[in-house]
Amino acid sequence: MSKKWVYLSRSASDELAETLGHEPALGEMKVILGGKGAGLATMTGTGLPVPPSFTITTEACVEYMNSGNFPAGMWEQTLEALKEIEAATGKKFGDPSNPLLVSVRSGARQSMPGMMDTVLNLGLNDETRVSLAELTGNEWFSYDAYRRFITMFSDIVMDYSREYFEEKLEELKKKEGVRTDPEVSLEGIRALVDEYKAMYKDHFGEDFPTDPYRQLELSIKAVFDSWNGARAVAYRDHEGIPHDWGTAVNVCTMVFGNMGKDSATGVAFSRDPATGKHEYLYGEFLINAQGEDVVAGIRTPQRMTLASSREWAKSQGIPEEKRASLYPSLEEAMPEIYDEFLGIVDKLEDHYRDMQDMEFTIERGKLWMLQTRTGKRTATSAVRIAVDLVEEGLIGKEEAIMRVDPTYVDLLLRPSFDPKASKTVIAKGLNASPGAAAGIAVFDAGRATDLAAEGQDVILVRPETSPDDVPGMLASKGVLTQKGGATSHAAVVARGNNLPCVAGCEDITVDVGRRQFTADDVVVKEGDVISIDGFTGEVYLGTVPLIATEYETQPDLIKMLVWADEIRELGVRTNADYPEDARRAREFGAEGIGLCRTEHMFFDPRARDAVVRMILAETDEERQSALDEMLPIQEQDFEGVFEAMDGLPVIMRLIDPPMHEFLPSREELIEEVTRLKCTDPDSPELTEREKMLQVVTGLWEVNPMMGLRGCRAGIMYKGLTEMQTRAYFQAACRCTKRGIKVIPEVMIPLVGHVNELKMEREKLEAVAQQVMEEEGIEVEYMFGTMIEVPRAALTAAEIAEYADFFSFGTNDLTQMTFGYSRDDAEGKFLLKYVEGFDTGEVDYNGDPIKTPILEANPFQTLDQVGTGRLVEMCVEEGQAADPDLEIGICGEHGGDPASIDFCHRVGLDYVSCSPFRVPVARLAAAQATIRNRK
Ligand code: ADP
Ligand code: MG
Ligand code: MG
Repeated sequence: MSKKWVYLSRSASDELAETLGHEPALGEMKVILGGKGAGLATMTGTGLPVPPSFTITTEACVEYMNSGNFPAGMWEQTLEALKEIEAATGKKFGDPSNPLLVSVRSGARQSMPGMMDTVLNLGLNDETRVSLAELTGNEWFSYDAYRRFITMFSDIVMDYSREYFEEKLEELKKKEGVRTDPEVSLEGIRALVDEYKAMYKDHFGEDFPTDPYRQLELSIKAVFDSWNGARAVAYRDHEGIPHDWGTAVNVCTMVFGNMGKDSATGVAFSRDPATGKHEYLYGEFLINAQGEDVVAGIRTPQRMTLASSREWAKSQGIPEEKRASLYPSLEEAMPEIYDEFLGIVDKLEDHYRDMQDMEFTIERGKLWMLQTRTGKRTATSAVRIAVDLVEEGLIGKEEAIMRVDPTYVDLLLRPSFDPKASKTVIAKGLNASPGAAAGIAVFDAGRATDLAAEGQDVILVRPETSPDDVPGMLASKGVLTQKGGATSHAAVVARGNNLPCVAGCEDITVDVGRRQFTADDVVVKEGDVISIDGFTGEVYLGTVPLIATEYETQPDLIKMLVWADEIRELGVRTNADYPEDARRAREFGAEGIGLCRTEHMFFDPRARDAVVRMILAETDEERQSALDEMLPIQEQDFEGVFEAMDGLPVIMRLIDPPMHEFLPSREELIEEVTRLKCTDPDSPELTEREKMLQVVTGLWEVNPMMGLRGCRAGIMYKGLTEMQTRAYFQAACRCTKRGIKVIPEVMIPLVGHVNELKMEREKLEAVAQQVMEEEGIEVEYMFGTMIEVPRAALTAAEIAEYADFFSFGTNDLTQMTFGYSRDDAEGKFLLKYVEGFDTGEVDYNGDPIKTPILEANPFQTLDQVGTGRLVEMCVEEGQAADPDLEIGICGEHGGDPASIDFCHRVGLDYVSCSPFRVPVARLAAAQATIRNRK
């Protein structure tokens, strides 16, 4: 016996169970029968009204693609299935007295809406048309069905475009002076069919095929072939669907929604696909119409329910009387069918336990289901539906959690541009930080701060940004940079502060001096309004209206994240430098601060002078007096953070960047000194600038990222980290006295050798002890280190001896493991590495096939093979040396779902990410627990 290629919808479940040796799961059914075929089989099996149908498997399609022929036995099995359908309907294929008509429909494993084609009314020819007219007593209808069939068959099967046929129909309507198809006269439509047949003969040199079996064979082949059609291939490329799955073919008894006023056709969602609301059915139908008419937009479709119909009419300005007579809802027009449909919707949702997208047809007062599938949805509705389904008892919390893509959570928290608004795109860069912002272009951080203080919405536009620009960035609504990648300064700061950012926008040329940028022939001057879309990387001229979203106003999201908290094993902390960030992150569910950077305090205008004096100091006394001035400012900041994090741990990272970042740039100083020498050679300013230049030159390093920074700066600059530690512990002690529960953790950055950590720790722990003694109060604390130098990871056992905790700084760790500078790599080669290089070959579409060097940007998604290996080893050896060692991650990866899954698997205690990523991380961490348990 040959392989089974054809399944009747009525018995498919049972037969598949036999083939597979167990009850087929929905996924398995889809693999073999395609989504549509599985839906038809399930609906039929559940006793729903489905026109008798059968499905030719995807496996048959694959065989056909490989050999160019139907596989052995397939055609015979098709004919047998057809006989079964004939028996079930009492009609006969090609029988001039009682003809069976069918549709031939494609249907892949995963739905590819509108990507492949369907032929309706197959089986019609001159004779069967006559009996269709007699049996229905409707001659007009029989011609209409026939002309549709000729059109679809020519277009889909024979590649003779339907436009030529539709043009003739349009001409006919014009000639008869009518607006819609059903108004065309009988004579008109009869003549049209004759004209179509003549066109066909003219075009192909032979008659339109009258043998229904020939029609069927050609149509099945056409559906198989459509799998490799340009549209389908492009869609699969876009969605990442494999090209070797193949499509099933569904042969379905025709039912007619165009048999008169008691017939109709429509589509409906069981819940609102935009909002997820489960209030009423969302859908549309048309009376006296066939399938494609609803989407074709020729007539105004009607709503399913009275409520939605009223809502719709109101939005259209249609008065109630007019609505009720011209566009009644299905609920009003066919109340019994409406009730039956509601019952079916409930059954389908019960079965699939998810929102369904359904197609139906009503033929002379009888309802038929033609399709059901899981409906596509927005981020908002995905969360709402998942939560509702749990509360309705259809799915469990874990399933609900697994159904929501963590990136959706991120989307839900950011305002976005109104998709309906019109926009003028002038450039496109990297979508570095999601969100949408509009405001006036400003080219200098200082001016940005000033103008923002005046209440202006500002977009800061820079060639690139540096720590000096941070206050200006934070005052702006968004940031646009010409250079730099996804982990450039601009991108990192923007993401950390939920600031929309388009970075590395090479389409623009920023001229800071002239306060303008150009994009092709568009010139944008300071004060001109632009909009940037951090979701897409697009830059627009003028404002685009925004639609806002907030966490507190999203009860479904909050509910789902509370469930996630019950499940997840990873802690979720936040990277927050300011009390404001810390408070927000806490609202978002952060369980502590995993990284509080202290360098921004050095840019504080109140501390600025002291910082510069500290760096320039020639004697210990000078330095100490500058540090003494900085102390109270730092302490104040830390108190704010402790207050915001009352009861939760706060990891304070000691100063990290190279000192030159706090001084003017060398180029700038050389320029000034030269200028002053010419204009004002005796000025004290010149002496001062010269001295500064000397210091900056002294600090200058070829490779500052690998230079005097992190713990190295702490070791070399006497008093600096002592001051920070003192400020931190004073804040901790004083907060404790005020009744705030503090959990201080001090993090020593950039350790590569255990002796660095040992020296810093011993020195700073002494300071901590001294402060507590002075304050007369004890607080529990920890000292630990950031693991970001590969050598530290490799010597974890030694390092663990002097660390109470490790926190992976995966940005630097990635940079140093790959040897890629994260400030330069993206623009120079990294993005190209990910995008890939031309192979000289092209795909089905004629697009070049590229081979990438890297699967993903390692600064965005943790490289599990290389960098991850270091992490894994480090965790293992660190924990072996000290079982109580607390281990987390505070690099950008802490907010990336794939990286979070990795962190769960290697057994970290927590991830730490920017405030707006906290909800994402909570969900991703729960998913990691569930996923890795199975
Ligand atoms: P798609 O996947 O593009 O939705 P379908 O195969 O579902 O394609 O069919 C396109 C249209 O034809 C749909 O509106 C469907 O309802 C209609 N249709 C398909 N088969 C039949 C049938 N047997 N009887 C009546 N209408 C049908
Ligand atoms: Mg469909
Ligand atoms: Mg670092």
